[in-house]
Amino acid sequence: MSDIFDKIGQTFSDIGESVSEKSKYVAEATKLNAKILQEKSSIGSNYSEIGRYYVEHYADNPDPGISDKVAAVIRSKEQIVEMEAKILALKGYIKCTVCGANVPFDDKFCGKCGAVLDKPAPPAPDEEEITPNVSVVPDDVPDDIIE
Ligand SMILES: [Zn+2]
Repeated sequence: MSDIFDKIGQTFSDIGESVSEKSKYVAEATKLNAKILQEKSSIGSNYSEIGRYYVEHYADNPDPGISDKVAAVIRSKEQIVEMEAKILALKGYIKCTVCGANVPFDDKFCGKCGAVLDKPAPPAPDEEEITPNVSVVPDDVPDDIIE
């Protein structure tokens, strides 16, 4: 009889061990999964840096395998510049192309660097294309110097 109880006791003890083993594996796997997520995040940000570096250094002659992606990044950047200029124009400003300062649209000179602001008529609110021009060429410079 005591043999049976010993066996039952042994079985419960085995179950107890396998449960604690299992929870140890689960805890370990959870830790490893968290580390995998960290590494994937690290890969993602490094890929992003590699891409930024590539576009900055090789945009003129990209590998044919990724030239469409490089072109897409350049297109997006150009669109951002255009839209930022439109937002500025909606606020009544243009960006000085010499120093980058925001200058009231009606001003003739940049208040920061003094560049002459040569621009088209103020845009109507519903106008599609807004392309303000800034000229730094003083009026007294002979024509043969200007290219
Ligand atoms: Zn300026």
